[in-house]
Amino acid sequence: MRLAVFSDVHSNLEALDAVLADMADQRVDQKICLGDVVGYNANPVECLERVRELHCPVLRGNHDQECSSDCSLENYSELARIGIEHCRKKLSPEHKAYLSQLPFTWESENEVLGAVHASMYMPPQWHYILSPLDAELHFAFQTVRLCFCGHTHVPGIFIQAAKGVKILPPRKYHYRDDVLQLVNVGSVGQPRDGDWRASYVIVDTKGHFVEFHRVKYPLKIAQKKIVQAGLPKKMADRLARGH
Ligand code: ZN
Repeated sequence: MRLAVFSDVHSNLEALDAVLADMADQRVDQKICLGDVVGYNANPVECLERVRELHCPVLRGNHDQECSSDCSLENYSELARIGIEHCRKKLSPEHKAYLSQLPFTWESENEVLGAVHASMYMPPQWHYILSPLDAELHFAFQTVRLCFCGHTHVPGIFIQAAKGVKILPPRKYHYRDDVLQLVNVGSVGQPRDGDWRASYVIVDTKGHFVEFHRVKYPLKIAQKKIVQAGLPKKMADRLARGH
């Protein structure tokens, strides 16, 4: 089975459509979305409807949660806050009801694969996994061999080895049965690893490997729509930098 795992679409319809087209070319059997469908960019409604049409598991991200509530946004950066406020205006009560019931975690039937938006260490607290220590905390609560996450918008691989956590850059990875592994799938709609192209992964359960995919999309159109929606120009500019 070939399972496509994607995260952090963040209302970037051009990036989402390019990724879905690439998944079709890659003969993917199943898809799973790790959350943050909305927030930031120009098309929250369109992205949410596109993802729902996939009829695949969709997890809850922090932006999905904030966009469907009235909670204070004082802990968010300026751009994140403006993006969430934009979504709160655009999304219907039905969209918000859908977002607010999304689950925090997913597990495959055979209990080999799992997924979460941020970290298995208290999922509703949205901990970032950047350092070996962050990964240790996550691994203490990971019950499957191979888990997937998003949230940082930086793709990569974390392995719990005997000597501690090892971090590998995003590249084809043959997963093992004897250690815990966590793969960050990066972001579709707002990558932050210096590469502007949309990021997602495919896991091949027969070949026991994970491969990272980067997909070009009509960046200029996405940027133009951000400005036309009345969102800050720097939100559009950062897409080109992949940051
Ligand atoms: Zn995000």
